[in-house]
Amino acid sequence: MRVTLDLGDVVFGAHRDLEVDTAVLCETCEGGGCQPGTGPATCDICHGSGHVQRTVRSLIGNVVTSAPCGTCQGYGTTIPYPCATCQGQGRVRARRTVSVDIPAGVETGLRLQLPGSGEVGPAGGPHGDLYLEITVEPHEVFSRDGDDLLATLDVSMSDAILGTTTRIDSLDGPVDLELRAGVQGGDILTIKGRGITPLRGSQRGDLRIGVHVVTPTRLDHKERALIEEFATRTKAPSPKLAEFQQGLFAKLRDRFRNG
Ligand SMILES: [Zn+2]
Ligand SMILES: [Zn+2]
Repeated sequence: MRVTLDLGDVVFGAHRDLEVDTAVLCETCEGGGCQPGTGPATCDICHGSGHVQRTVRSLIGNVVTSAPCGTCQGYGTTIPYPCATCQGQGRVRARRTVSVDIPAGVETGLRLQLPGSGEVGPAGGPHGDLYLEITVEPHEVFSRDGDDLLATLDVSMSDAILGTTTRIDSLDGPVDLELRAGVQGGDILTIKGRGITPLRGSQRGDLRIGVHVVTPTRLDHKERALIEEFATRTKAPSPKLAEFQQGLFAKLRDRFRNG
């Protein structure tokens, strides 16, 4: 069965009640396949052994082969009066609810095996397993990098210069985040322990937030005059060429875009 999760389910784990169409034990015959009050009969062909032997002539002499009996399908017994509910199969199709606890840290493509939650075997045989195939829907803000979560924070130019405290909505709920005065575009702010709990382990990863400083694109003439005054006072250095920085932040953005 396919199970679709969101990123919150991956962080905290999830519970699902799954409706499964499956074979369950026939209650009329309790899996035996016989009409109530009747019983199976020993197979006439194999005399109860479940297999038949055949002698085949070959170049090296007579060879005895053994094969499952075709009359009783290897059970050694036949059902003279099949159960009307299951036509002698011992199982019927039914919709069943399976309660599943999905652990934190799963990812798309992972298969979870639930032993014994599959179909009941023919003639009341043991249950098979149920496999869950996990799909994690992309989140509109957070993406995953191993056990860490990544996001980008747009910060106004003035907040980047002066510093501020802002409240962000993490998957754990609101978190106060302090931006120091002079934070740079590309800086990574790490919130420890707000990432994903690994599938095997209990130490949660981190939430890493890349700062993106937003330069204002429209200024009225008063704002423009203020910025010009600021530029004159600070005697900001003119643009200067430096080595290309394939920094953490560039990688962060790439991962963010590629999901
Ligand atoms: Zn039955
Ligand atoms: Zn037989």
